[in-house]
Amino acid sequence: MMRQTATTYSKQLARGWLWKVLLPYLLIIGLFGGAGLFVFFLASSTLDQVFPGEEGEAMHLSEAVLEHKPMVARYAEEYGIEQHVGLLLALMMQESGGRGKDPMQASESLCGSVGCIQDPEVSIEQGVKYFAAVLEQAEGDIKLALQSYNFGPGFIDYVQERGGAYTQELAIDFSAMMYHRLKDTGDYSCIRPEALPYKACYGDIYYVDAVLQYYDYSQVVAGKGDWISPIAGALTTTSDYGRRTHPISGRPDIHTGMDFGCINHITPIRSAGAGKVIYADFHTSSDGSPGYGNYVIIQHGKALFTAYAHLSSRKVVKGDLVEQGQTLGICGTTGSSTGPHLHFEAKRAPWKDHMNPGPLLGLSSEGGAS
Ligand SMILES: [Zn+2]
Repeated sequence: MMRQTATTYSKQLARGWLWKVLLPYLLIIGLFGGAGLFVFFLASSTLDQVFPGEEGEAMHLSEAVLEHKPMVARYAEEYGIEQHVGLLLALMMQESGGRGKDPMQASESLCGSVGCIQDPEVSIEQGVKYFAAVLEQAEGDIKLALQSYNFGPGFIDYVQERGGAYTQELAIDFSAMMYHRLKDTGDYSCIRPEALPYKACYGDIYYVDAVLQYYDYSQVVAGKGDWISPIAGALTTTSDYGRRTHPISGRPDIHTGMDFGCINHITPIRSAGAGKVIYADFHTSSDGSPGYGNYVIIQHGKALFTAYAHLSSRKVVKGDLVEQGQTLGICGTTGSSTGPHLHFEAKRAPWKDHMNPGPLLGLSSEGGAS
């Protein structure tokens, strides 16, 4: 209980400070970025209509959190993030276990000070609204949005200036930077002993992991309308998702997708769902070694992508809107490949956060790592 209170207190102080610093920037962005944002909203709402990406499910929730579920779902829908109810419940579980008058610990994001919310419904609406805002700003990067719920939206700018994707290292660096700036106020002390060696005592540097312990990534479902398999007819799985011995290097690694057998230059490779082509090119690894070869990435939702590798040829270009089942290319063995096959990936971001595609395709996969 002490730890919870202390976390919340330092977080709230931090956010109040951040808002004061950020406000002028936000106003400028609001004035001049309006048109661009409008276009962005148009684009993303089109995608949402094409394919609303569904997220995983919350787990190990307390009774108190579960009692709030209908209200969380209602406000998630109101703020356009109905696919993230599970994540919001996991977040509430971490914040409060569902107890108290401010179960989302949303007071300071509403009024800039601790304890101003005295009604769980006000807390839930504000928490959902605030999470929707940081998720939008984080361009759908769930981990970045979660950490920003704890650190404040300044963390998003910090990450976007340093590669754009959440990492644990960036969370530690940001926390250490803020702690260095603010420690003389005397309002901060290290809540987690693990944060001490880094002097990263601002907020909770392990907040993402803390929330995600209540969230099951592997329980991903395809949302409205199931996906179809990327190859018509009977599927031959030649390699599952997860841990394996790499076929070329012979070393243990994580297989980031599923491999399906196909006939070189013959078998059409089709889109598992409707979406937009965000990458269609010949891919080589950044160190110059063979990569995915002819590679197509389709965006189905804000944080839901599929990818198709080693094609002999591509039949779409970046920017195309594709239907479910539309041919994206032809089976091949280009790039880092030992023979004709389709390497199929499902992920939450274009180049990372892979998921086991088996459940999305309705396959009972034995894939190890999830
Ligand atoms: Zn593969």
